Formats: sequence, C-alpha cells, structure tokens
Amino acid sequence: MSYQEKFRLDGERAVVTGGGRAIGLCCTEALAEAGAAVVVIERSEADARQALALRDKGYDIEVRVGDVTDAGRMDAIANELAGGARPATILVNNAGIGQNGIAAEDLTDADWLRMMDVNLNGVFWCSRAFGRHMISMKRGAIVNLGSMSGHICNRPQPQTAYNVSKAAVHHLTRSLAAEWAQHGIRVNAVAPTYIETPMVVAVEANRERIPIWLADTPMGRMGTPEEVASAVLFLASGAASLMTGAIVNVDAGFTCW
Ligand code: NDP
Repeated sequence: MSYQEKFRLDGERAVVTGGGRAIGLCCTEALAEAGAAVVVIERSEADARQALALRDKGYDIEVRVGDVTDAGRMDAIANELAGGARPATILVNNAGIGQNGIAAEDLTDADWLRMMDVNLNGVFWCSRAFGRHMISMKRGAIVNLGSMSGHICNRPQPQTAYNVSKAAVHHLTRSLAAEWAQHGIRVNAVAPTYIETPMVVAVEANRERIPIWLADTPMGRMGTPEEVASAVLFLASGAASLMTGAIVNVDAGFTCW
C-alpha cells in the first residue's frame, strides 16, 4: 500500500461528536473526503445542518441527535450503527465546552460538574459505547480532542475546570490505549492551541487576551480548525498504525515555552 493510500478511509464508518460546527465540522469533512461514511452526533438537527450540506460534495453524511452526556443515548446510537451494514470503526470525540474566565473561587458546583460532564464523561460514555463494538470487531481508532490546556495553565484568563477536564481526557486516552491495544483499537488525542472557532473568537473578553496568547506562541498565531482536522485524519487513518496513547500537540509551539 502506498503512503497516500494509508490515509484513505474507504469503506469505514466514522462518528464525530459535535461534528456540525468549527473543529468538528472540519473533522467531518476531512474524514468524508478520505472516503469514510460519517455520522455526526449533535444536540439538534439545526446544529448539524452545515454537516448535512457536505452531502452536496457527494459525501455520505448522516446525523443522529443526541447529547454526549446522555450515556444511554450514546449506547443506543452505537448499538443501532453496529446492527447496520457499516458499524463504526472510527470515533472522534470532539464535542466539548469552554469556560469564560471564571476564577476558581467563583466556580459554582454546577459550573464544575457541567464541565466534567461534557468534556470528560461525554468522552468516556462515547468511547465505551462504540469501543464495545470495536472490541467485538477487533479493530477501531478513537481520536479525542484534548487541548494544550491539559498540559499547561493558560494565562491571563483563569480556566481551572477546563484545564482539568482536558488533562483528564489525555489520561483517559492513554488508559484506554493501554487497555484496548489487545483488541486492535488505537486511542490517541490531539492537543490544540487556541483555534479560531466560536468557542474562542465569540468571547468578547478574549479580544484583550489574544495579543498575550500570541506573544506566548512561538509561531505567533492561532490555528485554524482545518489544521486540527488534518491531525485528526492522520490519527484516525492507517498512516498512524503504530500510534496509540499519543497526545499530539497541534499548538504552533505554544507548549515549547
Ligand atoms: P465549538 O463550541 O465551536 O463546537 C463544539 C461542538 O460540540 C458544537 O457543535 C456543539 O453543539 C457540540 N457540543 C457541545 N456540547 C455537546 C454535547 N453535550 N453533546 C453533543 N454535542 C455537543 O467548539 P470547538 O470547535 O472550538 O472545539 C471542539 C473541541 O476542540 C472541544 O472539545 C474543545 O474543547 C477542543 N479544543 C478547542 C480549542 C479552541 O481553541 N477552539 C483548543 C483546544 C481544544 P451545540 O451547538 O449544541 O453547543
């Protein structure tokens, strides 16, 4: 097989949580362009309309409505796909929420629990739901959206809950990689820097923070969602066949300093 062919995903079924917008949408397109049939999980049909528009390019895109914090719903979607002609062999755990600079002492119980519920529990529920079927198929690739915030503590804005949730995603990635390697399943994560998405640019307070972030970044810029999706595609594909448990920095060098 040629090197280029290793990036092809023809015949595969991929699932992308939060795959209708921003980084998730680019992951949906990258995987579909490589030949995968993609199922996007979003909280509403409206959230998924940009993903469905990719059908105009001839891609095989479906949507399932569900919230990643609903473990039963994630099980139901995984079971339904496993019973069909093309079970899911790729899972991208992308759905996540940010935190708008709340100091730790002001975080409410609800703020903390919501962050962990979406960013950590959601990744586990989905990995467990789809992983069970990958185990029975003896193959699969899971790619998690971690963050450089799982390695470092961002400044100047406080975001303890987010940082902790992403550090946990990184170690969940390694733990599942170690446990499921015997079943032919690879589990990796990407750890992006600030990416130009609504999670970042729609926050008014970030305008004053951006120059500080860029001064802390060797490459002096934020990233694009497409640049994250390229790394996700690599990790999901056979081109990364020896990689599992890796946390791949996609961070313009941010964590070098
Ligand atoms: P966005 O907020 O732009 O998009 C997140 C997507 O996830 C939306 O489609 C959202 O749908 C969906 N989503 C959120 N919560 C749930 C849920 N409970 N169940 C199902 N879907 C849900 O985020 P980004 O594209 O910026 O980020 C994507 C991932 O990348 C996240 O995990 C984030 O933490 C990570 N990341 C982002 C960085 C950045 O700078 N942007 C940097 C590093 C990591 P809805 O419209 O319903 O909210």
